[in-house]
Amino acid sequence: MTGVVVMLVLTATVIVTLVALVLAERDMKSVIGDQQYSLLSSIAAQVDAQIEARKVLLASMADTIPANAASDPAAMQAFVDRHPVARKQFLNLHIFNREGMLLHTEGDHTSTTRPPNPRAREFFERAMAAGKPVVSLPYKSEITGLPSIMILHPVRDAQGKVAMLFGGSIDLSNTGFLDQIALQKPGQTGYLFIMTREGILLHHPDATRLLTHINARPGYNRATEMALDGFEGWVEATNKDGSDGIYSYKHLASTGWIIGARFPVDEAFAPMIAMRQHALLAAAIFAAVAGLLAWLLIQVLLRPLDRLHRHIGDIRSGSADISVLQRRRRDEIGGLSIAFHELMAEREKAQEAIRDNESLISNILERAPDAFVSCENTGIVTMWNRAAERIFGWSGEEAIGRDIAELIIPPDQRDAHRTGMTRFAQGGKGPMINARVRVTALHRDGREIPVELSIGSLRHGGAYYATAFLHDITERVEYEQKIAASEARFKQLARIDTLTGIANRLVFEEVLQQAILRSRRHRKPLALAYLDIDYFKEINDTQGHGAGDVVLREFAARLVASVRASDTVARLAGDEFVIVFEQVANAAEANRLAAKIVEAVRSPFMLDDEQRKVTTSMGVALHEGDDETCGELVARADSALYAAKRNGRDGYVVGD
Ligand code: GH3
Ligand code: MG
Repeated sequence: MTGVVVMLVLTATVIVTLVALVLAERDMKSVIGDQQYSLLSSIAAQVDAQIEARKVLLASMADTIPANAASDPAAMQAFVDRHPVARKQFLNLHIFNREGMLLHTEGDHTSTTRPPNPRAREFFERAMAAGKPVVSLPYKSEITGLPSIMILHPVRDAQGKVAMLFGGSIDLSNTGFLDQIALQKPGQTGYLFIMTREGILLHHPDATRLLTHINARPGYNRATEMALDGFEGWVEATNKDGSDGIYSYKHLASTGWIIGARFPVDEAFAPMIAMRQHALLAAAIFAAVAGLLAWLLIQVLLRPLDRLHRHIGDIRSGSADISVLQRRRRDEIGGLSIAFHELMAEREKAQEAIRDNESLISNILERAPDAFVSCENTGIVTMWNRAAERIFGWSGEEAIGRDIAELIIPPDQRDAHRTGMTRFAQGGKGPMINARVRVTALHRDGREIPVELSIGSLRHGGAYYATAFLHDITERVEYEQKIAASEARFKQLARIDTLTGIANRLVFEEVLQQAILRSRRHRKPLALAYLDIDYFKEINDTQGHGAGDVVLREFAARLVASVRASDTVARLAGDEFVIVFEQVANAAEANRLAAKIVEAVRSPFMLDDEQRKVTTSMGVALHEGDDETCGELVARADSALYAAKRNGRDGYVVGD
């Protein structure tokens, strides 16, 4: 905030200062220009006045010049001596004849007499025609070598005719003349100069340029061109060296010369630049002071906020209670403090609820009927409840901190377990088994325990843990095994005739079906024998049902003893039995088998310590690989039995 305040103050101050300076510079430039032009005008007036004064002086002397001055140097000398002022004003005084021939020179310097050159002649003619003092074009003095001018005045004789010409030469660099104006140059580095209307320099600080053209130096200066075009006034322009200046120009009324002044902008604005630096420095100081004050003010204003910050720090470190936030202040920071207090009170309440909840959950887990185990993604156990202690034999103290794989995972499953844990470690949550799966776990004593496992994951303190509920299903597995055993027995029973212990009708039907298929495949006939005990009812009736049962058992035993192991004997119902003979060569062999069985039954049965003769009738049907069904085969055997009964019993019939 302090930085922003300082920046704003500094920016505003700098902008205001710079705008003010730009406006001031513009105004100042115009003031300097105007000032310089008026100075130049007054200098021009001075120069004009000096030339006019000399003209007047020359005119007044011409009126009193002795008539013989041209021919009598002594008279001329005497005349000049009578005018000491003129001696000071002019370098030399001359007398020329009408043709421009120098007749006499009087002054500090002497000169040879010479006929005038064409330029001088033109000047003399002009002077004679004018009849009043005329100023010459500047020329280089033969005597001094310096730029000079001459004022000529025609002297008339008594008849009013021009008798001779009286002239006074003026050295332009004479301290009494132009050099004086040089003292009025603008500033330290500015200067004044004078040139003719054509641009020939008469006065210039650089003496080498005197009597040369102003544009003799290569380059372009707009102000110079304007001046040569007749401009008067001031203008800002760049000179041939590339530096800016304020140029002023004024024409001399007496000679038409142009007097000029150059004032370098650098110097003209030096006070302005200094002022700008001072202003910027002042702005910087002002901004620094404003910034300091702003900083102090902000410190004071933010002190309560700082205190609030400290209080929160104290609360976090535990060295203060949240009640410190309740101290009332009737401002925004007070409001913020109260809001913080409410927020932290809510947070404490929520944390307490979470703690309660956590302890409730850990109690529930601790007392859960199933083993609850959690471990890090490295497999290190972090939780081991009471049920886990009971089921696996390791105490919580022993288990926590050890690898779960060493504790309960059977060696043959450890590789799969580690692969799963690695996937879990890489994928954070990892693929979890939500359904219960049956696995085998190890007890401390090496015993294998069947368990039902469900795996999950939980995030706590930024880390993921694998969790597992393991439900001991030892009892259930034992029970299931018992059930399975009895079911098997039941199934077995369902296939056995309980009275005789041989196969029942169910088995017979299965066996017959299979035997028919085999017979067709091996192209070997099979024989089905249908047997019924003769007059069985009588046994029941005379010796009781129990004796009948004994007969049935003995009968079955004799049948089983009379056949090959590959043949099947079954009791269909009551006193009806069947035998399936596989791989019977032909009808003759069937007859032989039937006879053997009928004979085996004939030997007496022992009933209640007394012997009883029992016989059987038997019908045999041969199956030889055609499309006959089981039912048709049984029906044929049955009808063969019927035939045997009809034949008088105790015998057999092999059907067609
Ligand atoms: P047939 O020579 O014509 O066969 O005369 P049968 O007296 O043997 O007459 P049938 O074969 O029709 O009689 C069968 C009898 O067997 C009828 C029934 O009371 C008796 N019986 C059926 N099942 C049992 C059983 O399990 N035990 C005993 N003791 N008798 C049975
Ligand atoms: Mg019978």
